[in-house]
Amino acid sequence: MLSVKRIARGLRGRISRAGLQLQGRLSPGGSYVCNACGSAVQGFFAYGPTQDWGCPTCGSSPRERFVRHAVDSGLLRLPGRDSRILHIAPSEQSLVALFSASGAAYVRADIYPASYPGQEVRRVDLCDFPVGAERYDLIYASHVLEHILDDELAMRNIRANLAPNGEAWIIVPLHDRPTEEGGPDMPRRERERRFGQWDHVRFYGEDIALRLQRAGFAVERIAATDLAADVRHRQGLTDADTLWRCRPVSL
Ligand SMILES: [Zn+2]
Repeated sequence: MLSVKRIARGLRGRISRAGLQLQGRLSPGGSYVCNACGSAVQGFFAYGPTQDWGCPTCGSSPRERFVRHAVDSGLLRLPGRDSRILHIAPSEQSLVALFSASGAAYVRADIYPASYPGQEVRRVDLCDFPVGAERYDLIYASHVLEHILDDELAMRNIRANLAPNGEAWIIVPLHDRPTEEGGPDMPRRERERRFGQWDHVRFYGEDIALRLQRAGFAVERIAATDLAADVRHRQGLTDADTLWRCRPVSL
């Protein structure tokens, strides 16, 4: 007779979120861990080309779990209680909770606040982002810059709105080829084909670091591939999970 575990092993390649939830009810626990919600799970559901992507319990993405791991393990440090955090595109709920609980003044922002019904989200356009009276100690922008045509202007504006000792944590979809631009006139269908989504205007390679440096940052690369293989595997992290820790330098 096939055991639940054997069925799970056989199906895990493309199993749905509902399938994993059912497995979890039949056989609670699991050898994988979602650090976003603290659940032991039997695997992560597939999304697009990524097999081990979403947590069946909370829906967290690999990049969300990667940031949680980086903070929980001390690779990244949240600013202290008297600080200010700006979270652009605040859709990752465990990070919203993490930043909210940090004691910092926490501002959520997006160019389309209406995308967050019932939540307090400020409108911020990173290409038109005047420096306010108070700077931020942390600006977090995950999967934002690939939507912005003038990304170097957005990077400079992020830097301008940081406190002198502040940090920006930047994540973009990362590819193993040099950055490719689509330009303003690329048809939506072509963007979808080349960059994975109709509203992505480029894909980035590792050379994003040079753009961030040109914008006035000292850049540190923090990558899931630098973690032990079993840590990556248990938490469903991918080889592409990379965060650029950016500190302002004098230009
Ligand atoms: Zn979870």
